[in-house]
Amino acid sequence: MSATYKAIQVTKPGEFATVMKPLVDPGPGQVRIRVEACGVCHSDSGTVEGAFPISWPRVPGHEVVGRIDALGTGVQGWELRQRVGVGFLGGSCGYCEFCRNGDLVNCRNQEFTGIHSDGGYAEVMIAKATGLVRIPDDLSSADAAPLLCAGLTTFNALRNSPAKAGDLVAVLGIGGLGHLAVQYARRMGFEVAAISRGSNTAELARKLGAHHYIDSAATDPAPALQALGGAKVIVVTASGGKTIAETFKGLRPGGVSIDLGVGPDPVEVTSVDLIFGERKVAGSLTGNPAAGDATLRFSMLSGVSAMIETVPLEEAPAAYAKMMAGKARFRIVLVTKNGSGQAEQAK
Ligand SMILES: [Zn+2]
Ligand SMILES: [Zn+2]
Repeated sequence: MSATYKAIQVTKPGEFATVMKPLVDPGPGQVRIRVEACGVCHSDSGTVEGAFPISWPRVPGHEVVGRIDALGTGVQGWELRQRVGVGFLGGSCGYCEFCRNGDLVNCRNQEFTGIHSDGGYAEVMIAKATGLVRIPDDLSSADAAPLLCAGLTTFNALRNSPAKAGDLVAVLGIGGLGHLAVQYARRMGFEVAAISRGSNTAELARKLGAHHYIDSAATDPAPALQALGGAKVIVVTASGGKTIAETFKGLRPGGVSIDLGVGPDPVEVTSVDLIFGERKVAGSLTGNPAAGDATLRFSMLSGVSAMIETVPLEEAPAAYAKMMAGKARFRIVLVTKNGSGQAEQAK
C-alpha cells in the first residue's frame, strides 16, 4: 500500500493545489477511509473562499463515500472494508449538554468536514466514527455521495416538518437541493408544488414528481400557493432571506417556512403575517447520522436519486468552478481510482 495519497487542497482563499500527502494512522475514535466518491456542494465555498476561519491548507469536501481501511483505538460498530459515508457534520462528542440530551446535530464540539478537518477531495480521509453513515450495498458510491448532504438536508427537513400525507408542500428552487426535495416530498405522500423562475423548469419539476409548477418570474408565488389552499410547509432551497419573504404569505395558518439555503440577506416577514395564522420561519441543519442512514435507505426503497455528473478527482477545481457558476445539473461527484463508483452488487 502506498505511503502517500493524492489530495486537492486549498492553500489560500480561491487557490487549489494538487498534492501528495503522507498516509497517517487514524487517532482514537477515528477511522481512515479510502475515498471512492465525493460530491461537490455549494457549502464547499465556505472552505474554498475562506468564509469560515480556516487553518490552511485545507482539503474541502463533505459528501464522501469510501471504504474503511484502518480503525483507530476504541472504535466500535464499524469494520474494516465497510463502505461508509461522511457528511457535513463531522461527528458528535458524546459528552456535551446537547449530545447528552440526544441532540447530536447541535453538539457543541462538532467539527465540520472539510472546514475544521480535511474532507473528501482526496484519495484518503480521516473521519470520526461518531459521524459515519451506512451505505446500502445496492447504492453506488457516486450515487450515494450527494445524498449525504443535499439528500439528508432535504429529506430530514421534510421528515421532521409538521406536514402530513396529503398536505400541500412547496419546494422553492429546483437545483441541487430542490430537485431532491421535490422527489422526497412526492414519495412521502404530499401534494407538491415546485416553485422556480422561468417556464423551462416546469417539465423537469413534473418529472421529479411535482403536482404543480409555479413560475415565480411570471406569477407571484404566494397567492398562487393560496389558490391551492396554502402550503403547510415551504422548503426554501434557494439562498437568501428575500425568497423566504416573497413566499411566506403562501403558507396556510400553522404553516412553516423551512430555510435550507444559506445567504447573507436578513429574512423580512411582518409580525402580522407571523401572528395572524401562527406561521413560523425555521432553519434546518442536515441531520444526525441515523437520519443519514434513513435518507439512503428511503432513497433506495422509493427510487429517489440525485441527477449527477461524475468527474475524476483530479478535475476538482474545474468541477468546483462549474458548480459555483450554477452550471451543475444538478450535482457533480468526484470519483477516485479507489472505486469504480459502482454498487456493491455490481462488483
Ligand atoms: Zn453540502
Ligand atoms: Zn457533543
